[in-house]
Amino acid sequence: MRWYPWLDIIYSKILNSYRKNRGHHALLLNAKWDNGEDTLIYAIVRWLSCSHPLETRHCDICHNCKLMNAGHHPDYYPINPENNTQTIGVDIMRACIHSIYHHACQSKVKIIHIKYVEYLTDQSINALLKTLDEPPINTYFFFKTRDYIKIPLTFLSRCMKWSIIPPKESLGLQWLIRQREGVNDILSAQCALRLCNGAPIEAETMFKLGMWKQRLELCKSIHDTIINKDFLKLVPFLNTCRKNTYLYWFITVLVDALKWKQGINKRFIINLDQIELITIIADYWSISSLSLQLQQWLLLLCCFQKFTNIDRELLLTYRLLNWKQDVIESCFHAWSI
Ligand SMILES: [Zn+2]
Repeated sequence: MRWYPWLDIIYSKILNSYRKNRGHHALLLNAKWDNGEDTLIYAIVRWLSCSHPLETRHCDICHNCKLMNAGHHPDYYPINPENNTQTIGVDIMRACIHSIYHHACQSKVKIIHIKYVEYLTDQSINALLKTLDEPPINTYFFFKTRDYIKIPLTFLSRCMKWSIIPPKESLGLQWLIRQREGVNDILSAQCALRLCNGAPIEAETMFKLGMWKQRLELCKSIHDTIINKDFLKLVPFLNTCRKNTYLYWFITVLVDALKWKQGINKRFIINLDQIELITIIADYWSISSLSLQLQQWLLLLCCFQKFTNIDRELLLTYRLLNWKQDVIESCFHAWSI
């Protein structure tokens, strides 16, 4: 199991509660980005299920550890979505609840691990509530969520919530550089980290999956677009659906340009490797138009995230033409002064 150093403190805190027999039976880990929650849950699950746990980790030699290593411990219930869906239906949930009440416990604990609460349907949540209220003895639930605001309060109130926040930038950077795979230099690692809200695992994925290269292509394209005044060339880039990543990167460049324009210190810039591009945007647009544009682009991003059956190309074209119009008006305003 790959361990992440920034989990040490929170792991100790959670584990101590179980070692003192004060651990909550339902744990909900909340993180907007991947900060290693699965690893954290798995480490706690391993410690709880081990017959002879050491102070902070499982023994790895007892019968329960061997079953866990083999991937089929009868008292460990990892609940996954149904095939090709992102849904855990009520039937799966009822079957699981039935098992934990009626099957004999072969080890000392029963553990239910649901990767994302978001996968649970309303009916599944309702089916779980009573069990969360009065769980069978020595039964533990582990949940993860990317957005706990969307979780019903009736469910939230039955869990102990832990927020898994990213490490300090220096620690994240240190870890990222040590991974080496695809990470070329400190500046790139720092930018990737900032683009991922400080989450080193996500930043590493950027390099591993070639997303870093794609982002560099986008930045070059934004640069050429502005210089050549051919704004619609950005449409295919920004129309790339994959979680709206390109659009998100584009917005961070606008955010940086606005910061630059307002004289905010360079150390608060996200795209540290794109200072030239940021200064060009800051030169072409006024503060008020940049600020307004940013609001509009953020609205568009929200719209893309919420609705799937909209004409993305049309909306992007409109937005880009509007952005172009703003540069003309900004210049005109500057000349008239
Ligand atoms: Zn063990």
